This record gives sequence, structure tokens and C-alpha cells, in this order.
Amino acid sequence: MDLARFPRIRLGHFPTPLEPLDNLTRLLGGPRLWIKRDDCTGLSTGGNKTRKLEFLMAEAQARQADVVITQGATQSNHARQTAAAAAKLGMQCHILLEDRTGFTEFDYTDNGNVLLDRLHGATVERRAGGSNMQAEMESVAAQLTQAGRRPYVIPGGGSNPVGALGYVNAALELVNQSVEMGLRIDVLMHATGSAGTQAGLVAGLQAMNSTIRLLGIGVRAPRDKQESMVFGLACLTWALLGLHGELPRAAVEANCDYVGGGYGVPTPGMAEAVTLLAQSEGLLLDPVYSGKGMAGLIDLVRKGRFAKDQNIVFLHTGGSAALFGYPDAFGLATS
Ligand SMILES: *Cc1c(COP(=O)(O)O)cnc(C)c1O
Repeated sequence: MDLARFPRIRLGHFPTPLEPLDNLTRLLGGPRLWIKRDDCTGLSTGGNKTRKLEFLMAEAQARQADVVITQGATQSNHARQTAAAAAKLGMQCHILLEDRTGFTEFDYTDNGNVLLDRLHGATVERRAGGSNMQAEMESVAAQLTQAGRRPYVIPGGGSNPVGALGYVNAALELVNQSVEMGLRIDVLMHATGSAGTQAGLVAGLQAMNSTIRLLGIGVRAPRDKQESMVFGLACLTWALLGLHGELPRAAVEANCDYVGGGYGVPTPGMAEAVTLLAQSEGLLLDPVYSGKGMAGLIDLVRKGRFAKDQNIVFLHTGGSAALFGYPDAFGLATS
């Protein structure tokens, strides 16, 4: 596997730290919990999309694009990181935001990530929930091409094989860290949505014959759909890397029991997880992804699904800017 032959533009601070969660480990009574800080990638409050954008924006530049188009939910972290990357590279950014929740509070519709999208100079347009967002982007791209521009369309979440290369690289980074630290990682867990993160990790870990068990916690789709999305993208990423042999379907595992009422809809487990990490570790999770991912981790630990001597790494995929879109989700007193 030779990642160096794919064009990449440096946008983040890497490697991200791998740190112990001593207080949470003590509170839950083991196993040994660790956190991989991909919330600290540095670009506009950080997050997992930065790794994907290093490869996607390099492709956009290679194609001489002058404007990037992408889409996401209203409080999309991907849209915010894309807006920041475009600003840094002197490209325009056009964002389509899909109303997946129906929430109408100002903080949800205009604060948090949406404020940052605009601050980075992106243009923001809204679309109704359930719109065909890929088709909407293609139609904006056609209009821009007509007007003499050179658009580059990035799929939702940056989840295509080129974007997933960012998480192939993250798998290499994590395995190297574990070797340097003498840390045997048993399980790697993270929130999975548009599938690029998990697909890249699966491909990278398999390419290294790693024995780390990878477990995604779903935030939107039911298990069958989530796992087949991840597997499909992992196979395409495997092919892009020119790897031989078959990617085992069993390497893709997603637990979708923590979605609750739907994508972006708060759950009690999420609120508990976000509050617990804020108050025991001084760490900020987010209400849509890492909060539900951590809720899954906490619940599985409480159910005794891991041995006490195992090392479990939670990949923190970022998203804290979305907290400001959800001020009422945590049952906190207001004055
Ligand atoms: C996008 C996102 C995820 C999910 O990553 P996918 O590659 O879309 O599966 C997880 N956490 C946060 C904070 C995100 O913004």
C-alpha cells in the first residue's frame, strides 16, 4: 500500500494525540479507556473531515477547481471544515444544508457550525429534509459551470474513496502510535455516519493485518444499511489503493442501537455522555455524533461487553461547534 502516490494538501495537525481517559476508566470500573484526539486536527475547531479534505482538496486543486460545493445537515461539521479548507486554499465554497430535524430555533438554524460556515465566507443555501442532495449539488455545479466557473463537488461527509484515504492514513498513524507507546489496542470505537471514516479505517487496518477490532456506533441508518454502506465504500477504497485479495465482510461492524429518535435528535444517553466527559475529563463531545458514539461505548462497558484488561480507544471525531446549536439538550439551568 502506497498512500504517498495520492496528492495530499496538509490542512491539519498530525499526528493527533492518543491519551488515556483515566477518570472515565475509574468511574466505569474498567476496561482501560483511551481517546484518539481527531477533534484536535486544528482546522476551524477540528474534526474528522479534515483528514478526508486533505486528499479531496488536493484532487480539487489538481482539477483546477475554483469553487467547491458540498452538502450536509444544518449543523454539519463537514460543511464547516470544507468552508475553512476552501478559505485557506483561496477557493470559494458553496454549501447546501438539508433540514433533517425540522428544528426551527435560531441557535440550531444559524449558530454553531452555520455561523462558522458563513464566517469562513461560504455561501449557504437550504434544502428541505429528504431532498436528493447529490442531485441538488449537481444542479448547482451545472449552473456554476454555465457561468464560467470550475466547480468540484464533494459528497456529503467527504465520503468517497478519495476522502476515505484520510482514514486509511489515520489507521497507519494509530498503529504507529500504539507501537511507540507499547499499547496493545483491543478495540477502536467511533461514531459512524456517511461511512468514510469507518471505511478508511477498515481498509487501513486490514491492509496492515491488524488485530484491532473496529466498532462503529451508528448515528442515522439501521445496522444492515450502515454496514453495507461502510463495506461498499471500504471495497472501493481497497481497490483505489490497488490492494489484492478480498476485504472480509466480517471486518465491518456497526452497532446502531444508539440512534434514538433519528439523525441529530438528542437522546438521554447522548446528554449523559456529553455531560460526563465534560465534567470528568474536561472534554467536549458533540450532540450528533461523538456524544452518541460515547453513549454506545458507556452502555457496552456497563453491560460488561469488554474484559477489564482490554484497551479500548474511542476515536473522537470532533463536532463540539454543534453544541452551540443545541443549548437546550443538556437539561442545564438557564438564568
Ligand atoms: C461526520 C462526522 C462523523 C461520522 O463520520 P463519517 O465518515 O461521516 O461516518 C463522526 N463524528 C463527527 C463529529 C462528524 O462530524
